[in-house]
Amino acid sequence: MTGKPMAFGGGPRPSRRAFLLGLGVVTVPLAMPVPLFAASRPAPNKTGRPAPRALTLYNPNTKEWWKGVYHDGAKLLAPAHDELNWFLRDHHERAQTGMDPAVFDLMWHLAERYRRAGHGRVAINVHSAYRTRTTNDRLRAEGAALNSLHLRGMAVDVSVQGYGIYFLIHHAEAIATGGLGFYRAGFVHLDSGKRRYWFRR
Ligand SMILES: [Zn+2]
Repeated sequence: MTGKPMAFGGGPRPSRRAFLLGLGVVTVPLAMPVPLFAASRPAPNKTGRPAPRALTLYNPNTKEWWKGVYHDGAKLLAPAHDELNWFLRDHHERAQTGMDPAVFDLMWHLAERYRRAGHGRVAINVHSAYRTRTTNDRLRAEGAALNSLHLRGMAVDVSVQGYGIYFLIHHAEAIATGGLGFYRAGFVHLDSGKRRYWFRR
């Protein structure tokens, strides 16, 4: 991918009232017992096998891109997993961990939602992924949880390039299977832990 990456989706930030109204919309489906994302499993291709899963990711902190296939439809690809472990590292401490592949699937399902809505193949900004204890403690003042799943490589904070918070809330809610946090700074937290959600200013 070429061109200057955008930090967040276009358009002005929504007012608090508008934002809360948006949140009101998303709380209803969260009460549903069946994960909505089950409907967006990879469709079998002509060979009858599930299609490969690709991601286009950008890290605004390191200015790095990762673009590729991480899953061939049958299994996780080890070289891609290794690359993503580094890409999603704690850049403050230059430390990486073995990321939970379920996090890759969350990002893939998110991108798929945009694609199926007619937006093509979107790039996902990853604002935060793995965090060491040192980094997480430093971020406590900004709302990081004491035992955040970022510490275990089970969480990402993401936005989608070129699209604002309304799209993000709508699509993230539809694919979330674990934790889902909304942040007014313009990103969502997704994790592979227990199902729960929250809102932070
Ligand atoms: Zn987070």
